[in-house]
Order: sequence, then C-alpha cells, then structure tokens
Amino acid sequence: VHEGILRRQSARESAARTYARALPIVPVRARGLTIEGADGRRYLDCLSGAGTLALGHNHPVVLEAIRKVIDSGAPLHVLDLATPVKDAFTTELFRTLPAGLADRARVQFCGPAGTDAVEAALKLVRTASGRSGILAFTGAYHGMTAGALEASGGAQDVRVTRLPYPQDYRCPFGIGGPRGAEIAARWTRSLLDDTKSGVPRPAGMILEPVQGEGGVIPAPDAWLRRMRSLTEDRSIPLIADEVQTGVGRTGAFWAVEHSGVVPDVMVMSKAIGGSLPLAVIVYRDDLDVWPPGAHAGTFRGNQLAMAAGAATLSYVRENRLAERAGELGTRMLGQLQHLAEDFSCIGDVRGRGLMIGVELVDPEGAPDTGPSGLADAPLLGAPAATPLPAAPDLAAAVRDACLDRGLIVELGGRHSSVVRLLPPLTITDEQAAAVVDRFADALVAVAR
Ligand code: PMP
Repeated sequence: VHEGILRRQSARESAARTYARALPIVPVRARGLTIEGADGRRYLDCLSGAGTLALGHNHPVVLEAIRKVIDSGAPLHVLDLATPVKDAFTTELFRTLPAGLADRARVQFCGPAGTDAVEAALKLVRTASGRSGILAFTGAYHGMTAGALEASGGAQDVRVTRLPYPQDYRCPFGIGGPRGAEIAARWTRSLLDDTKSGVPRPAGMILEPVQGEGGVIPAPDAWLRRMRSLTEDRSIPLIADEVQTGVGRTGAFWAVEHSGVVPDVMVMSKAIGGSLPLAVIVYRDDLDVWPPGAHAGTFRGNQLAMAAGAATLSYVRENRLAERAGELGTRMLGQLQHLAEDFSCIGDVRGRGLMIGVELVDPEGAPDTGPSGLADAPLLGAPAATPLPAAPDLAAAVRDACLDRGLIVELGGRHSSVVRLLPPLTITDEQAAAVVDRFADALVAVAR
C-alpha cells in the first residue's frame, strides 16, 4: 500500500509538490504528536502541519467540536452569513486579542489560507491609505499568492521596499546583537525620511515577529518597538503576520505581545482553524473603510474550521499553553544549544517558545561573506561568531536521518539549511526529551 501510494502520487502530482518530496511517508492515523504511516511505522511529528497543530493531531476537544456541528444539522456551507458557530468563534478570538486592539477590533474573514489573509491585509491598508507602496523585510515569507509573494524576501516588485530584518547570525551588517538590530532600525528610519530615496509614502509595513520559513529568526522586542514607533509617527499601518507565530507558539498568545507592540492589522491563520483551513485579518475599527463587497470570497464561512478553531483557542487560553510553550521551548533550546557544543556543523540554535531552528553549516568552509539580501548593506564589523557557509545538503541529511529515527522535521531558511522544530504545544516533557534524543542521534549519524 505504502509504496504504491507514494509511486502513484509522485507520478500524478505536480512537480512543485513540497513536503511529500522531503517526507516519503503515507500517514493513515494520527493522535497528538504521533503519526502512523501506512507501513505501520510511527513518527513524532515536529512539523505539525507547518506549525498549524497547536493541540497536535486529532485532539479530543477539537474532534468533539467538529462532531457537535455535524450532529446538530447546522449548514456546513453558509458563505459569510452570521451563524451561532461563527459567533462563538469570533467571541473566543476577540478574547485572545492583545490589549489595545481588543476593544476596537474588526475581523474580516478571508480564506481559506494564510496567503489569502495576507492579500486582504495588503489590500486593506492600500484601500485605507490610497497609496500602494509596501514596506517588507529581507527573508520574509508571507505566502504564495501574487501580493504575498511580492512582500516575501527575495522577490522583486516596484511597489515593495525591502528593509533589513535584524538577525544575530548572518547579520546583514556583520554585527548582530542589539547593535545590529539598532543599525537595522536606523536603516529603516533613514530610508523613510530620505525624500530622495525614491521610497514613496507607503500604504503599510508588514513583518513577522519571528520569521518562520525564513529560518526561525526572532525579532528583538526593542526592534519591534522601534518599527512600531517609526510607523506610528508617520501614520503608516503596521501589519503583523502572525500566521505561524500565533496561538501560543512563541510563549505568548500572539507573538507581538512579548514586545507590547499593538499592530494596526494582524494576519492570522494556521492554528486558528484547529487543523482546518481558516484565515482572518483583525484590525483597528478606524481602518474599516472598505465598502461592502470590497473583499469577497466563497469560502469565508467554514463552519467546521470555526468550531475546531474556537475549541483550540479556548483550550490554549484556559490551559495556559502559551506559558507552557515558553517554558518547554526555553528548555529544548538550552538542550539543543548544549548539543551544538559537540557539533562544529551546528552554526546557530535559536527560537522562541516552540518555534526552534538549528542552522547547519560547513565547518570546513570559508567564512560566509555572501549576499546579505540587502544589496548595498555596508559591512560594519566582524560578527561575534563568524558565520560559516550554510550547509543545505547536510541539513537535508539530518532531516532524513531524523525521519529514519521516527522524527519528522522540515527545513527552512534562505539556503534551506535550518532544521525547524514546531511541535504541538501539548507535547509532554517525555516526548520533548525523545525529540531532542532522536535529533541528537540523527546528528551523530550524519555529522562530523
Ligand atoms: N505567513 C506566514 C508567516 C507563514 O508562515 C505562512 C505559511 N507558512 C503564510 C503566511 C502563508 O500561509 P498559507 O500557506 O496558509 O497560505
């Protein structure tokens, strides 16, 4: 069964298929952290639907919420009509919002994917401001539709101005730490204030509080506050893309809460649907200027996703799973950093909460002075740890060795050299220890 399905699907599906290429497994059953393949093998799933499964696979409260809607005879397709299910979801969602936004919030159901909500956010700020320019960051990932793609790192679009995202390791200015972040902030300020830079007054700024696909890069809180004050002073709406960081993953319900920053628009998807497709933007009411019908779509009322999502949001809130993710994440990060001392091929271990990245490098390579993503970034100093060349092949070998040991992880980062761990927030202490053990075993098997 297993081999037959893999063979047929690889012949029938697009050459662009992603996860199925890297992870040749055929999941047939799952619960919590565990996935069982058609070949009977069991895996610890630290990909979690690319960070979607806050409560793991098939959590009983999620299944119960879905069953309740089905058994009630409620319509499953309602376009965007008001229903008791939607009412319950919105109530629960508003309960989670950061103070400062909660009392003035509007929600726009988008859908069904994160990229749809990014599109809506860009369109909203463009509609509200009458301008078209967008400020976005190196290494960003916002999705695969045209607008979201424009705002993602590496893309070229005349309407998007690319700014430096602060990072310690591979800092574009060769400095890292608080000083590197400060220089990144100054770069943004001087660009905004330079009338000759050619940057038109933008419609909005979009950022991830922790870059996920970009290689798990947490933005320093002080830098986020700088971005907030720079945009606030110039009346530029700030869009926080919390598609991957939201619902407790980083140790706060929403990652912006660590810094106290209140964005004007928040983009949410992944975990808010409790494993089913759901995406929304939440924004301050005075931005709600678009006329009726300005943003439509057939699939904005997924009742099962709203029920699963409401159950997930309330479970995370009531069981303080964000705090748990913060504590457990700190512990796992410490263990992985400790592990890194024995492996010269680990260049960096970083993360926030249960969003963890391990960057693999070539210990024998020449120090990396390659493109920083910012063509004209001046190198201002030698970073504390000279970054070695990224090692995507080694990272892929580690991922494969993890899979051989029953651990599912995926890669990210500009060079696909960062192993990402995104376990469910419900992972137990014993499971977390098993994840670190298997990861260490995989490293021993493939690394020098
Ligand atoms: N924004 C961020 C921060 C993401 O991580 C992702 C998905 N990885 C998206 C947007 C796009 O979401 P989707 O894949 O559901 O379109």
